[in-house]
Amino acid sequence: MSDCLFCRIVEREIPSTVVAESEDLLAFRDIDPKAPTHVLVIPKAHYANAVELATADPALAGNLLAMAGQIAEAEGVAADGYRLLFNTGKNGGQEVFHVHLHLFGGRPLGPMLA
Ligand code: IMP
Repeated sequence: MSDCLFCRIVEREIPSTVVAESEDLLAFRDIDPKAPTHVLVIPKAHYANAVELATADPALAGNLLAMAGQIAEAEGVAADGYRLLFNTGKNGGQEVFHVHLHLFGGRPLGPMLA
């Protein structure tokens, strides 16, 4: 059994609310949403962060972004705009070291940094 939380979500060892899935990608709702729409999009394969993913598999990184755009449309947040965010490393606020793209939408999000 993996000790990576998001690998375990991919394996369905931990439940999640899945909103989209492909052969290589999974998107599920954040357990502690910070906006009306807060979805995490991840590759099923384990990469620690966004740069590691993009370096190893640029096409997959692009597909991950494209899936986020499709979810934004499906969630009805695309027209008003939304935020895509990769926290990267400790000082970047990353807590789960399996790359995940945050999709926030459904309200004005304000300036980037508080
Ligand atoms: P990070 O700070 O960018 O690493 O974000 C990790 C995110 O994972 C946080 O927004 C958490 O709320 C979210 N999270 C942690 N555990 C779970 C879970 O079991 N299901 C869904 N989201 C989770």
